[in-house]
Amino acid sequence: MRICDAHCDTLFNLVTAPKNKNDVTMERLLKGGVSLQTMAMYVGPKAPLEEVELLFDRMLQALEGLKQQGWVLADDPSEAVAGEVKMLLSIEGCEVFGRGLTVIEEYRHKGVRMAAVTWNHENALAIPACQDEQAGLKPYGLQAVKEMQRLKIAVDVSHLNQGGFYDILNKTDAPPMASHSCCRALREHRRNLTDQQLKDLFRAGGYVGLNFYPAFLTEGRCTMDTLVDHFDHMMDMGGEGKIGFGSDFDGISTKPEGLDNPEDFPALLQKLRDRGYTEKQVKSIAGEAMIDYFARL
Ligand SMILES: [Zn+2]
Repeated sequence: MRICDAHCDTLFNLVTAPKNKNDVTMERLLKGGVSLQTMAMYVGPKAPLEEVELLFDRMLQALEGLKQQGWVLADDPSEAVAGEVKMLLSIEGCEVFGRGLTVIEEYRHKGVRMAAVTWNHENALAIPACQDEQAGLKPYGLQAVKEMQRLKIAVDVSHLNQGGFYDILNKTDAPPMASHSCCRALREHRRNLTDQQLKDLFRAGGYVGLNFYPAFLTEGRCTMDTLVDHFDHMMDMGGEGKIGFGSDFDGISTKPEGLDNPEDFPALLQKLRDRGYTEKQVKSIAGEAMIDYFARL
């Protein structure tokens, strides 16, 4: 079984709060059977571009530090192997691409394979869902998305508004992904995807990693059953073979009951079995769907 996770904020924590204990550690990834952990370079609080660039350099240094400790950076999720742990590098908030299109290729050479167009700040490319639902991609944003697609960087629409989401679907060629998003039909929140977005994303060959943050999953008590409710709903929207995990570990302040860190992935997979998912569906959600998505880019 290959377990893949499409999002965590551990690199940011390593540089901004190095003394804090992280959810994501090599020991826990091994115990949980995680084969591929996506590590996001997260843009953080609003800051001048020079400061963001400095922050990204520090996260790249933290990544080098992990490599020296034996962590392996994959260039494609298909390199995931059961029983081993590899990392995939992503960006959350494309502020650094504001400098010009050539920067995108520089980050691709540094190993970036996925990039969320915005976090919760407006940037040179687009406007996030938390600010304006409808405004589309900026002209530069459309150019940047096409450049990302040329370089086989997965375009991540988590945090992006609906206008930007539909510009990517309608005006560009490769299917986008939402690395850490939930269903708006089950929890009314701007960060969550509407049924129409889910249907259109799945029809286009996209992918959704389910976010584990309770505030995005429910207004009530959050358990592993709550997560399976969201998977059930995504399956109803056409998500079979196109859904998986986007835990957001090390970026979320609360967790669903029993799902504290990567060690708990097997318990979540067992919950899927208990709720009637076939072994093939469990394997797909665990990681195969994310690996297959990258093959479609
Ligand atoms: Zn996020």
